Amino acid sequence: MVIIDGKKVSAQVKEQVASETKELIAQGVTPGLAVILVGDDPASRVYVNNKKKACEFVGFKSEEFALPATTTQEELLALVDELNNRKDINGILCQLPLPKGLDDNAVIEAISPLKDVDAFHKQNVGRIMIGDYDFLPCTPAGIMEMLHAYDIDVDGKNCVVIGRSNIVGKPMGMLLLHENGTVTICHSHTKNLKEITANADILVAAIGRAKFVTADMVKEGAVVIDVGMNRDENGKLCGDVDFENVKDKCSYITPVPGGVGPMTIATLMKNTLKAARLQNNL
Ligand code: NAP
Repeated sequence: MVIIDGKKVSAQVKEQVASETKELIAQGVTPGLAVILVGDDPASRVYVNNKKKACEFVGFKSEEFALPATTTQEELLALVDELNNRKDINGILCQLPLPKGLDDNAVIEAISPLKDVDAFHKQNVGRIMIGDYDFLPCTPAGIMEMLHAYDIDVDGKNCVVIGRSNIVGKPMGMLLLHENGTVTICHSHTKNLKEITANADILVAAIGRAKFVTADMVKEGAVVIDVGMNRDENGKLCGDVDFENVKDKCSYITPVPGGVGPMTIATLMKNTLKAARLQNNL
């Protein structure tokens, strides 16, 4: 069994981005990422801080817009509009979910598709569907990068994704399909979940429930990717997979923390670099 080291792979990706950023800066372009955080959700604050740290590491300019939870929809959209029009900002991300009363979808749709480094805008989602895209969503693309780094071939494999959110489950299924996996996407209405997951060569858990995937749900020799970020009964960070009991059945497994999370941020850096290139025709 191999524990996939997401930290190591993400460090390699960020090194590569840093070196390409140096070249871009030499050509007069410093990639800029704007991060919008509304309200004071502690988990969102941690994610935003990690994204800022990664920007510093690779040499981007990052600008944070921390707005109070009382911000109105109009104020938020006005900020997005201003950022859409700024030449020094190449990528815009708004940390989701937004506080109650604000509309996630309206903000996603307001961000220019050219600066949509999360790849959540419907124009970018549609382009992913047909395999003609500039940006891929950070978490699924980070997972694919991790599979490639460990020479895990998807072609012809039975791939099962638990979860069908727009940001993880659905695009994950699509990326596995693009690489010729045979894909099943499961959700809360799925019947006989255990029978389906127990046939998976590659199992991706994106549910948001601590230790949901137990050893009896996993095939001997499977590759298990854990997207979940939960707190267990002791308040400790844990994934959607019961790691301790599942790991010995797997050929490869990602830990939480140190698996998918760092790859998500590394992909965000790749997308922002690409956005800067595209906007400057470089
Ligand atoms: P989400 O929008 O809440 O979606 C959860 C999905 O799980 C839904 O499709 C839901 O089905 C399904 N589900 C819930 N209970 C189930 C059950 N008993 N059986 C089968 N399926 C079930 O969550 P998300 O945004 O995709 O995130 C999932 C997890 O990944 C969370 O823990 C989140 O924090 C984490 N995450 C981590 C990263 C990272 O970088 N590491 C990035 C994003 C998210 P229905 O659609 O039928 O309700």
